[in-house]
Amino acid sequence: MVKKILKFGGTSVGGIKRIQHVANIIKKEYNSGNQIIAVVSAMSGKTNELIDFSKKISDDFDKREMDVLLSTGEQISCALLAGALIKLGINARSWLNWQIPILTNGQHTNARIVNMNTSKINSFLNNGVAIIPGFQGISENGDITTLGRGGSDASAVAFAKLFEADACEIYTDVDGVYSTDPNKIPVAKKIEKISFDEMLELSSLGAKVMQSSAVQTAMMYDIPLEVRSTFTDRNGTKIFEHQNIDYSKSVTGVAYSKDDAKITLIGVEDRPGVAANIFEPLNKSQINVDMVIQNISSDSKTTDITFTIKRIDLSKTTEILKNNQKIKYKDISCNDKVSKVSIVGAGMVSTPGVTFRMFKALAEESINIIAISTSEIKLSVIIDEENTLKAVKKLHTIFDLD
Ligand code: ADP
Ligand code: ASP
Ligand code: MG
Repeated sequence: MVKKILKFGGTSVGGIKRIQHVANIIKKEYNSGNQIIAVVSAMSGKTNELIDFSKKISDDFDKREMDVLLSTGEQISCALLAGALIKLGINARSWLNWQIPILTNGQHTNARIVNMNTSKINSFLNNGVAIIPGFQGISENGDITTLGRGGSDASAVAFAKLFEADACEIYTDVDGVYSTDPNKIPVAKKIEKISFDEMLELSSLGAKVMQSSAVQTAMMYDIPLEVRSTFTDRNGTKIFEHQNIDYSKSVTGVAYSKDDAKITLIGVEDRPGVAANIFEPLNKSQINVDMVIQNISSDSKTTDITFTIKRIDLSKTTEILKNNQKIKYKDISCNDKVSKVSIVGAGMVSTPGVTFRMFKALAEESINIIAISTSEIKLSVIIDEENTLKAVKKLHTIFDLD
């Protein structure tokens, strides 16, 4: 008997008709003799709506209460899906996170699943379909915690490990992982199979089809995944540790994100220890600095330091910099209208000239590069946000992905 984790995202359970459709997919799988654990997201738009409610009360809504609030979205879809299955004559049951319980590390709004009691559900699986909410768990002291946006993917992967499932299928509103977002660039191509490494880069650089921490966990425990469509029967994309990567293409995909901001400190004293003095307090406040560039000025006594951070951290970061007594600078400039565009591909390792081709292509479109960062299998640039799609389209074409 095959034990399967089937995860259904927000659009897949976005209305009653869709929930009934999902119930039919599950019924078919269950009637084929599989043991089924379905993991569900909140109905599409629900989590955003709940966040908007919290903002009407406070911009700094209490994190513990935020988790109590946000976890309710998944509770609704769990019950509706279980009800739809029961209506189809299938013995189905939903469990809430604390009834199982699903244990997390307790970090409010950004928790990680660390363990769960699988016995109750395991013993139910021979008689029916289990429905579990994604995106949540409880801390050691019983507080509800959520896993960060898109966190139902992370739940599905964690459950695949903890239940020792034979398969983990991510049902969503596209029929697989594409060379770039197919809803924005229609010439994007479906990728049949992709390695964990490449998928991890793509998701952490903005391809939200899989949440990056879910891919990281899958890679760590070698849990193969399949991303497939709730709305068509086509084969999806297999994500796994495959040795026979197709190196014929240097670039596998293009990703972009619009959640970065750039800060430049102008006229900073140029002496040892200055960079450490700038970044130490940011690190203490858990502000993640991504790219850093330093330009030496003509008098070589001062320097300009540019770095990028997440856009949501911008006001906190400028406040920390302004209150930092250990650094002196002439001025500070901020830009939150930037985006990060990245090319990803395991084939880049063995293909010379990829960097040059990327820069030349952007120059041909008159797109100015503000900052650059590289790793073995990715190349990212920060550019003006208004040029994002133009850059993605051009790179998609010149790296033969159309
Ligand atoms: P779910 O609610 O099912 O978790 P998401 O909205 O989180 O779905 O992710 C699916 C969306 O990811 C797609 O609708 C698509 O617009 C977007 N996306 C971004 N990059 C890619 C990509 N490279 N391949 C496929 N989809 C992508
Ligand atoms: N409902 C949560 C969100 O919208 C989790 C998820 O859908 O994966 O972020
Ligand atoms: Mg998602």
